[in-house]
Amino acid sequence: MTRFQTRSNLLAVVVAALSAAGTAQTRALVLDHVRIIDGSGAEPIENGRVVIEGERIVHVGSAATVGVPAGAETVDLSGRSVIPGLIDLHFHIENDPKLALRQLSNGITAFRDPGQWDEKFQELRRMITADGIPGPRIFTTGPHIDGENPAYPADSVVARDAEEARRHAELSVARGASALKIYFRLPFASARAVIDVCEARRIPCTAHLELLDARELIAAGLHGVEHVTSFGMSLLPRREAEAYRQAVLTSNDARRDGRYRLFAQANLDGPQAQALYAVLRERKPFFDATLAVFERRAGASHPDGAKPDLTPVFVSGFARMKQLTRRVAQEGARLVVGGHTEVPFAGRGEAPWREMELLVESGFSPLEAISAATTTAAAFLYRSNELGSLRAGLNADLVVLRGQPDRDVSAIRTVDRVMVAGRWIDITKYRRY
Ligand SMILES: [Zn+2]
Repeated sequence: MTRFQTRSNLLAVVVAALSAAGTAQTRALVLDHVRIIDGSGAEPIENGRVVIEGERIVHVGSAATVGVPAGAETVDLSGRSVIPGLIDLHFHIENDPKLALRQLSNGITAFRDPGQWDEKFQELRRMITADGIPGPRIFTTGPHIDGENPAYPADSVVARDAEEARRHAELSVARGASALKIYFRLPFASARAVIDVCEARRIPCTAHLELLDARELIAAGLHGVEHVTSFGMSLLPRREAEAYRQAVLTSNDARRDGRYRLFAQANLDGPQAQALYAVLRERKPFFDATLAVFERRAGASHPDGAKPDLTPVFVSGFARMKQLTRRVAQEGARLVVGGHTEVPFAGRGEAPWREMELLVESGFSPLEAISAATTTAAAFLYRSNELGSLRAGLNADLVVLRGQPDRDVSAIRTVDRVMVAGRWIDITKYRRY
């Protein structure tokens, strides 16, 4: 035996020992006999098997084709469905970090706050660290970038011109923002400056429009739109659009009733709407309707304390918002889900579930609503290679349900187990938050 061979044999022994240790450390976990809804929109896999090693999914498929690794821990999930962890792209943390953990117990394993100072996440991050849990995954945008007389002063930075807008945008990115959000009083040139920063930094730019024309902003490169009401002004003839714009410029409160009136009369097939659809077909922006926050029902007490005689306008305006949500998705907008934290007709921590139900009421299939909250949401985070689907290589973020949400979307409420990064969450604890 030459000296070289001895060394090479030694190396082989060391490599074998290391890989044996590695296998022992990452004992695989197998979710067995489970109905798999992978988030892509594909039909469920009956009697499926998901293999997880460490933080990641390593195999997904039918039990007939995916083997069980030697020494794996197996969980029999017969009668259960598994979906990717839900992603809420419009969650305002405000002063309630516990709500994020309650939403986690409801299957929301990641969220984006579309406009808030970083300081507001400190307490939630502290709680996550103290409890030693791997989630929820937090995506921030920094404060809204708004114009003068901002809609939500405490949550905003004010840019008086394009240069100030650009500098605010750069500062938020430097502080870790994973997206930026334009607010509706920002003038067009300033909004475009923010979009340019997002393009340069390779993060998405989203917006609450209402006073900005969605057609112009999307054509200028805006990646996402928050709230179905952001399309309202684009549906009106120029003269009426300007009247609405001036009313809201005078008082931010003018939009509270005004947008329902606007939608109640909106023409979804008129020339303005057609011009909007043409831009959507070309640019395919992400679209977060946040229907649940606008939901109004006949006979229900009005959440804003408005006069009862306005109820028919609210109800018909909301019906038209649902129609437009369906229509813009058919025209090319990529639908995602934002729960909007607290909404009139959902319990605490249940806003994303209500949003998904409203999407189905608007004409989407349950599988489309699930894709919006998972695969497409991850794409809007620019994290498709990490999150949002049940496929090999992605993070093991998932929700086990007792029901079958592809048949009845309300089965999204039947949460049995929640996993983030390969670890089960104590949902009993966080349901009390
Ligand atoms: Zn919001």
